[in-house]
Amino acid sequence: MSLHVHKYGGTSVGTAEKIQNVAKKLVDEKNTTGNDLVVVVSAMSGETNRMTELAKQMQATPSAKQMDVLLSTGEQVTISLLCMALEERGQKAVSYTGSQVKIITDDSHGKARIEDIYTDKLQADLAAGNIVVVAGFQGVTESGAITTLGRGGSDTTAVALAAALKADECRIYTDVDGVYTTDPRVEPKARRLNKITFEEMLEMASLGSKILQIRSVEFAGKYNVPLRVLSTFIDGDGTLITYEDDEMEKALISGIAFNRDEAKVTLAGVPDMPGVASAILKPIADANIEIDMIVQNVAEDQSTDFTFTVHRNDYEKTMQILQNICTQLGAKKVAGDDKIVKVSIVGVGMRSHAGIASQMFSALAGEGINIRMISTSEIKISVVVDERYLELAVRTLHESFGLSKE
Ligand code: ADP
Ligand code: ASP
Ligand code: MG
Repeated sequence: MSLHVHKYGGTSVGTAEKIQNVAKKLVDEKNTTGNDLVVVVSAMSGETNRMTELAKQMQATPSAKQMDVLLSTGEQVTISLLCMALEERGQKAVSYTGSQVKIITDDSHGKARIEDIYTDKLQADLAAGNIVVVAGFQGVTESGAITTLGRGGSDTTAVALAAALKADECRIYTDVDGVYTTDPRVEPKARRLNKITFEEMLEMASLGSKILQIRSVEFAGKYNVPLRVLSTFIDGDGTLITYEDDEMEKALISGIAFNRDEAKVTLAGVPDMPGVASAILKPIADANIEIDMIVQNVAEDQSTDFTFTVHRNDYEKTMQILQNICTQLGAKKVAGDDKIVKVSIVGVGMRSHAGIASQMFSALAGEGINIRMISTSEIKISVVVDERYLELAVRTLHESFGLSKE
């Protein structure tokens, strides 16, 4: 007998019928396998967004603390409804909010990190024959404040619980039947991968693939949690996220990720002297704005251009701060563009092959797509292009690297 943690995302529990469907699946599985089941659920689809909109009607920028009190209720609705549906089928079930479990987090509201999980009560419930249903996305600080883990955080709750309970497998059930070479909503020719390495999945998630929250992949890699992504609606083995092995598909590129949430800003004609980069970036960091790509040109005439990208939500604020820095540093001007996207190719195969970057750039050039910024690491190459080229760029690269289904 094994212990499995399942996670059902918002679309899998989006209606009463869908919750009943999940209850049926769980009861069938428990009856056929006898496995112990811990189930993490998201809020019903659309609920987290709906509440965020409501909050905005109260206050332009509500405190992260109150947002957590509000948003955590979404998952509380689902745990109770799922337990009712399980009990209706004659299955004993217990529901837990994050704070009832004692999923202890730090106090960074809105993006809290899990520090500790108390498992004694859950284990006793399992031993008594219950299915244990836990609200995803939330925790509690040592002093009792409700926290949330950031968008997509139920994935992280599931993996963290699987690690704490030493589960045999953590299964992320969603509306696609696995991890694809790219988002199938953008490229219908995308293929499902049987396996992907933790390293690649982490890059894909960090570069914008929203199928798994970044921290869930980090956690799974660190604590060696066997992690699988599957469909709630179609039977199949899904995608296993695992360590690199010899059986891995010998592809150069495993996938293409994209991020629509970026904006680009440039400070032009900055004096080329020590301390300038930090003079620019410190006020940005002090305003709690995260920076992604950074490019600085080679100096000409003792001055240089400094460009970086930020989240689109931080664009206006970043432009304001840069205006001030521009005056202080005696730079030429500030320019910005919030209609850009980042497209990245990812693959461990890249390590041992030259020429991947030039293949990428020539494929994009062949479609007349202008590259505005480039950044590389060992297993990824990212480019910034105009927003209107997103779909074209993804499909062109998908085809060029032989990822499309026949
Ligand atoms: P859930 O509500 O179950 O958490 P999400 O919407 O967070 O589901 O994640 C599933 C979605 O992720 C899919 O519907 C798909 O559009 C998107 N997605 C993005 N990149 C990929 C990828 N590489 N493979 C599969 N799905 C992807
Ligand atoms: N309900 C939260 C969100 O929509 C958490 C999750 O679904 O994972 O982001
Ligand atoms: Mg999700």
